Amino acid sequence: MANFQKLIIPSDRVERLQYIKRMFAQATGSFLGDAWRGGRQEALRRLNTTDIQAYSRNRNFLNGDVSKLSPYLRHGCLTLHETAENVLQRFGAQSQKFVQELAWRDYWRRVWFEQGDAIFSDLEDAKVALGDKPLPDFIRQGITGLPCMDGFIRDLTLEGYVHNHARMWFAAYVVHWLKVDWREAADWFEHYLLDGDKASNHLSWQWIASVNSSKPYYFNKENLARYTGEKYCATCKINCPFDASYEAINDKLFVVNGASPAKTYRVDMPTKDALSTHQAVAIYVHDEMLSGAHPLLRRPMARIFVFDDFLHGNWPLKRLQFMADCLNELQDVEIWVGNTREILKERGVGQIITQDTPNRQLKALLEPFNPVYQPEVKFAESTISEKRLKRFSRYWEKVGAELFGEELMANDKK
Ligand SMILES: Cc1cc2nc3c(=O)[nH]c(=O)nc-3n(C[C@H](O)[C@H](O)[C@H](O)COP(=O)(O)OP(=O)(O)OC[C@H]3O[C@@H](n4cnc5c(N)ncnc54)[C@H](O)[C@@H]3O)c2cc1C
Repeated sequence: MANFQKLIIPSDRVERLQYIKRMFAQATGSFLGDAWRGGRQEALRRLNTTDIQAYSRNRNFLNGDVSKLSPYLRHGCLTLHETAENVLQRFGAQSQKFVQELAWRDYWRRVWFEQGDAIFSDLEDAKVALGDKPLPDFIRQGITGLPCMDGFIRDLTLEGYVHNHARMWFAAYVVHWLKVDWREAADWFEHYLLDGDKASNHLSWQWIASVNSSKPYYFNKENLARYTGEKYCATCKINCPFDASYEAINDKLFVVNGASPAKTYRVDMPTKDALSTHQAVAIYVHDEMLSGAHPLLRRPMARIFVFDDFLHGNWPLKRLQFMADCLNELQDVEIWVGNTREILKERGVGQIITQDTPNRQLKALLEPFNPVYQPEVKFAESTISEKRLKRFSRYWEKVGAELFGEELMANDKK
């Protein structure tokens, strides 16, 4: 029996979400609900209603005016370039903070393109002694006993979205207080995110751990209480492990002097396969290009998307539903579930054209189909040398100047 199936995604949303639940009976986690709706239309609505000026002032607060655009940018509903253009045109220099955050995504992505699967291993020696404990069950179950951390785990596992500052506190707690191996924690964390992205996620965990930064990131109670608006601290009764000065925390966390040498981790790759002997040429729509405005979708040839076991097999239900929302807006795309290679062969495909990606696992999967990669739309034109890619500040010096002009950037430094 064939190990794949074509999906007919219902246009009615309620039916669509139910359909995905039936088709992916093994997928875990809760329903997507109304708070998130995949697709370009919703992405544009969010972009046009984000208060960019308020964002510059309050984005670090848990209740700040963040855009919640990350799942849309991750799946290509919007390009980073058009997002930046939109706010630059409307707010000029006042959009700088927001554009700088978009730039972080571009930066991590460029590092992924440059470094490939090395991003899954320590990029540098750690600047402090790191631990290598497995991720404890009390983290997986969200029962740490710390109301703040349990709250962040609930955001993660129930909503699939966590505020950036909370991601930083949580990762620091896991890596520095609990001494957990960052890689295991990063894999677990990414699994639940609607915006789960190998570059932004794994490189951020590395940044916190200090294997891709010049020092470890950690925080104290005062910082968490301020930016959460006392949401958790006001009623918290436990003996807080974060209630100390930065100096005292530093001495406690990094009591073992010295640094940890860089570690290498394994990456799962698909098996090798011979070149396809078929003739047809098709557009392969992958999960970073789910936009009806994508130029490749204007080409008059078969367009094929696959919910692939290797790529998406363990994704939670709500993320599959989010992608189904996105796919519902695309015209004339065949949607399949199963093994990409078997499906492309079944469709007689010998060559695919698709958007370029830093994802080497996806590329290895597509190798037998003689792929042609079209470059993705650039966030900024600047070419960034490997040396500049070492740190965001060096990258931003160049990209920021391209987007906002040398003068504004120089004023910023004063
Ligand atoms: C441990 C950790 C794990 C992370 N994992 C992911 C991930 O898997 N996927 C992901 O998209 N982001 C990840 N981030 C980055 C960041 O937390 C999210 O992009 C951001 O919180 C998304 O919320 P928003 O769209 O409301 O952001 P906004 O503040 O509104 O920012 C607008 C956009 O800029 C980009 N952006 C903002 N901050 C960052 C950042 N620090 N790094 C990269 N891009 C950024 C995002 O695309 C975001 O949508 C992670 C950060 C940390 C500390």
